[in-house]
Amino acid sequence: MSARTRFAPSPSGLLHLGHAYSALVAWDAAGRNREQFILRIEDIDSTRCRAEFEDAIYEDLNWLGLQWCLPVMRQSERLATYAAGLEKLQSHDVVYPCFCTRRDIQEEIARSANAPHGPDGALYPGICRALTKAERNARLQSGEPYAWRLDASAAAARTGPLQWTDQRRGSIDVDSALFGDVVIARKDIGTSYHLAVVIDDAAQSIELITRGEDLFHATHVHRILQELLGLPVPTWHHHALITDESGERLAKRSDARAVRAYRDAGMTPEQVAQLAQRSPTC
Ligand code: GLU
Repeated sequence: MSARTRFAPSPSGLLHLGHAYSALVAWDAAGRNREQFILRIEDIDSTRCRAEFEDAIYEDLNWLGLQWCLPVMRQSERLATYAAGLEKLQSHDVVYPCFCTRRDIQEEIARSANAPHGPDGALYPGICRALTKAERNARLQSGEPYAWRLDASAAAARTGPLQWTDQRRGSIDVDSALFGDVVIARKDIGTSYHLAVVIDDAAQSIELITRGEDLFHATHVHRILQELLGLPVPTWHHHALITDESGERLAKRSDARAVRAYRDAGMTPEQVAQLAQRSPTC
């Protein structure tokens, strides 16, 4: 049975074999039907995203035989929508402003012997969560730049226990402490991957979110945000990641082969699809 699904690349480089695999998983889950396969460009980080990479995404996906409906949603055009989502979280009192620099955080982590760690490393040590109301207001008024962080325990208290379903792993209990107080709105762009992705998946009525295993744990955060924002809950399919012969993730390698490099070397779209589908390991 097919589902409405999506492929959501960031145009910060050329599509490589790992992206091709991810796109093909979504395309197959969508029943190879352009009405069901949503392409979304996740380009909120203007320092990393480039127009030529976006053009290359369209070209490479077309070359692979994938089709989608127009217009394509581009996250850079939706900052006002994400700001409205942030306001809703503010009204629930589950986010707080964070003035910390990267250095403040590193120093605090180095000071504490048992800094909690999550799947992506040390968690935010809660420095700005502990500010008094007066301290917070003074710093806001001084014009110091700030991000917004989720108050993970306040959020958990508000949502109560939550679950989500992964097609490969079954029902998963949300662990709100796994990522700690993640950034929901960055200082520079006023949103974050986590906030934008849950708002857009709902706006595009996505039923099945297919993406790599590397984002498996992020789904805990997404499920919490969906609940806080009153958004529908899709199903997830986190697929295996492509690795090279030595087991290293392709995306981490500087020489990850771009889809167009295979094309330029004379391979057909079918051969590239086969190569992508042969490579994943768990
Ligand atoms: N934009 C993300 C990436 O390119 C994918 C996010 C997602 O599928 O949820 O890695």
